[in-house]
Amino acid sequence: MKNMTAQQAFDTVIRSKTEDLMGISFDCICGETHGVPIKYLSMGSGAVERAGAVLDDFGFGGRGVAVCDRRIESTVVREVMSVLSAGGLDLAIHPVGDGATLIKPEVSGSEIIAGEIKGKADYLVAVGSGVICDLVKYAATSLGIPCALIGTAPSMNGYTSSMAALSEEGIKKTIMIDPPRCIFGDTAIMRDAPVEMVRAGLGDIISKSICNADWKLSQIVKKTYFCPLPFRITDKSEPEYLEAAEAIGGRTEEGIRVLTDGIMRSGLSMTVIGTSMPSSGAEHFISHYWDLMALKEGGKKLLHGTQVGVSTLLVLDLYEWLKGFRIKRVSMEKLESDYPTREEIETFLEGKFGVYSEGIKAQYLPKYLPWKEKKAELQRIVDTWDSIFGELQPYIRPKHTAARALKKSGAPVTCEDLGKTRNEALEALIYARYIRGRYTILDLLADFGVLEQAARSILG
Ligand SMILES: [Zn+2]
Ligand SMILES: [Zn+2]
Repeated sequence: MKNMTAQQAFDTVIRSKTEDLMGISFDCICGETHGVPIKYLSMGSGAVERAGAVLDDFGFGGRGVAVCDRRIESTVVREVMSVLSAGGLDLAIHPVGDGATLIKPEVSGSEIIAGEIKGKADYLVAVGSGVICDLVKYAATSLGIPCALIGTAPSMNGYTSSMAALSEEGIKKTIMIDPPRCIFGDTAIMRDAPVEMVRAGLGDIISKSICNADWKLSQIVKKTYFCPLPFRITDKSEPEYLEAAEAIGGRTEEGIRVLTDGIMRSGLSMTVIGTSMPSSGAEHFISHYWDLMALKEGGKKLLHGTQVGVSTLLVLDLYEWLKGFRIKRVSMEKLESDYPTREEIETFLEGKFGVYSEGIKAQYLPKYLPWKEKKAELQRIVDTWDSIFGELQPYIRPKHTAARALKKSGAPVTCEDLGKTRNEALEALIYARYIRGRYTILDLLADFGVLEQAARSILG
């Protein structure tokens, strides 16, 4: 991208094929330098057949260890291994998990893998989906060795992300790691993934517009950094996956190709700027909240993207509700008398989240402002409300378009479809904002004293 202006480089990036974004680096119109440190991405049927030659080309040498979920070791992984072997790549297999239950996305699990593999591998290859890939990316980073990813399900957007989404003491965190060097999204393998995982991939990426609305809102209210590039990267694939929703649910070759491209672009939209903000807003916090409650109360944990699809629709409803909110009629005196002190918040969080409250306090309390500062922030919002809402509009999609696509794919659409009660949905809408430090629509509504009212209204 040498000799290009920032605008020319920006336009080139958003027009580029996904695979062609690997290795780019350029000065953006936002004033920052962006880049994709991943060297190679290949999608399509048969992509892993060339893995041996590709890893050679990209500097993988010595002993390689493939890390996989023990639950798919005897099926998917053996199949992948025989293809790799035919292509001249023989790897030792390191299965993890008990072979029966879901592997937990936890930092401690990744540290165990790193400890077991230390000194036995010169590089790692993750053969799996979200959790395995995140565990391997983190383990490879801590061992200081490169890793490659072979996706087995298009169920989430983390393959191309330079972050790992792992929990520490129940709190989901996005941790910066060394990005994978090579990624293979072989649609012939991904097609065979369980259909609920495929539908979950659609649920994860259908949230992109609303994540960017929250990110934009944070820029306007909190003056945080914002760049329009990530949204434009994912926006390019949106009409394609909305159109292909039925084919995605049917796991056709074309459906899986479109979905795989969509999830890879979504991961890249984070990698290119080095934060997860373009891919994680209020809808992700609602999903993380449900995960935390499942952990705390021993409930059933659902797939990330399955929850995110439904919570995206809830947040779209909140933005719609916000449109009709008469913000100028808000009484600052009433808000002041209801405003909690920092101590009151701490006591509330300890009571609500119990053993997880320390981690939650560390996330939430930096977001807390003394009333004087909060009042000034709220007054600014009231004074400029029309222009704020105008700036958010390009990122807000009609709910029915997203709902229709999820439905066509066969994915859950309502909280009821997820097996969540109205109260579980209500609690998530009200309390999810405490579990992450970022500012979203949930904070805005809470600060104006109408979050519960809005949540009850949209849940009917
Ligand atoms: Zn930028
Ligand atoms: Zn996600």
